[in-house]
Amino acid sequence: MKKVFVLGSTGSIGVNCLNVISNLKYDFEVAGLTVNSNTQLLLEQIREFNPKVVVVRDESAAKKISGKIPKGCELLIGEDGLIKAAVETEYDIFMGAMVGFAGLAPTLEAIKRGKRIALANKETLVVAGEIVTKLVLENSAEIIPVDSEHSAIYQCLVGENLEVVEKLILTASGGPFRDKDKSFFETATVDEALNHPNWKMGSKITIDSATMMNKGLEVIEAHWLFGLPAEKIEVVIHPQSIIHSMVQFVDGSIKAQLGLPDMKLPIQYALTFPERVRNNFDRTDLPAIGSLTFYEPDLNKFECLKLAFDALNTGGTAPCILNAANEVAVSKFLLKEIKFSHIPLLINKALDKVENNLSPNLGTIFECDKVTREYVNQII
Ligand code: NAD
Ligand code: MG
Repeated sequence: MKKVFVLGSTGSIGVNCLNVISNLKYDFEVAGLTVNSNTQLLLEQIREFNPKVVVVRDESAAKKISGKIPKGCELLIGEDGLIKAAVETEYDIFMGAMVGFAGLAPTLEAIKRGKRIALANKETLVVAGEIVTKLVLENSAEIIPVDSEHSAIYQCLVGENLEVVEKLILTASGGPFRDKDKSFFETATVDEALNHPNWKMGSKITIDSATMMNKGLEVIEAHWLFGLPAEKIEVVIHPQSIIHSMVQFVDGSIKAQLGLPDMKLPIQYALTFPERVRNNFDRTDLPAIGSLTFYEPDLNKFECLKLAFDALNTGGTAPCILNAANEVAVSKFLLKEIKFSHIPLLINKALDKVENNLSPNLGTIFECDKVTREYVNQII
C-alpha cells in the first residue's frame, strides 16, 4: 500500500488526484490532506479517505471545524501546520497540488525526506529550480511531473538518453484568446478569461493560460526538469490539446504523447510510474477528433510568454520576480482591480525594477518573492 500526502486537496488537481486514488484503492491510500479554507469539502474528503492528518491553512476556517474532525485524524493549522505535516506524516508520495509560491516550503520538506514528489505545483520549479533539483539529487528524492506537457515529455523519454534529445516541443492550446487581436486585451473580462476552451482548472492557472504565462512557466519548468537550455525548448500552438507535448531527437524523429485533455492520466502516471495501470477513463477517439493542427505563437501578442523566456535566459532571481509579479497581477485581475492588458505591463516593470540576484539561495528567493509582491502592490 502506497501512502499519498495531498498538498492542496480541494483544488482542481487535488480533487482529480483523490479520484485517481479511489480507482486505485487496493494499492494507494491517503496519508494527509491540506487545504487553504474549503473546510466543507475537506470534511467530505476526510470521511471518504480517512487521512491521519489534515491541515487548514486559514486559521479562522480551521477553528470552525476543529470539533468535527474524527478520532484518529489530527488537525494542524496555518503555515507551521503545513510544514509540520510535510515533515512528520508517514507517506511515500507527496502530491504537490497547491497553487503558487506558497507550495515551495512544504515541497522542500518532502524533498529533504527523499520522497517521490508528484509535482503539479510548477511555481516551485520556476522560482527555485536550481536549488530544488540539487536538493532532489542530494536526498535521492524524485520528481515525477504531473503537468500534462511535462508528463508527456517524461513518457516520451522513457528508454531514451537525454544526450540524443534535439529539442522539446511544448504544445499550448492558446487559451480562450487564441484567435483574438491584441487590442481585445484592453477590454477582456474576468469571465471571458476564465472560459478556457479545453481544460477545467483552478482560476490562477486559467488566467495564466489566457495570457500564455502558463506556457512561459512551463518552459522554465521543462528547463529544470529535463536540463535543456531555453533555445532547445519550443512552444507550438495546438488548439485541440490532444498531443500533450513532444520530443525531437538528433536523428529528426519526433515522439509525442497523446490523450484527452484530462489531468487524471498524468496524475495516475506520476503515482504508478514506472508501472502503467489499467483504468476506465475515457479513451481518445481519433476519427471523431479528425484533425490536429499546429502553428507558432505570436510573442508580440502574448507578451507574458516572451517575458518568461527572457527571465529564463537572464537567470538568477528573474524567474522568481516574474512569478511573484504574475501572482499579484493575476489576483488583482481576478478582483477586477486591473485590466487584462496590465498583467504583462506589471511583470515587465517588476523585472526592470526589482534587483536580480544572480546566485540566489533559499533565503534570497523568499526575500525576492516578498519584495516583488510589495513592489507590484505599491505600483498598482
Ligand atoms: P486550485 O486553485 O484549483 O487549487 C489550489 C489548492 O491549493 C486548493 O486545495 C487550495 O485550498 C490550496 N491553496 C491555495 N492557496 C493556498 C495557500 N496559500 N496555502 C495553503 N493552501 C493553499 O489550483 P489547481 O488548478 O488545482 O492548480 C494547482 C497547481 O497545479 C498549480 O500550480 C497549477 O499551475 C498546477 N497545474 C494545474 C493543472 C490543472 O488542470 N488544474 C494542470 C497542470 C498544472
Ligand atoms: Mg500544463
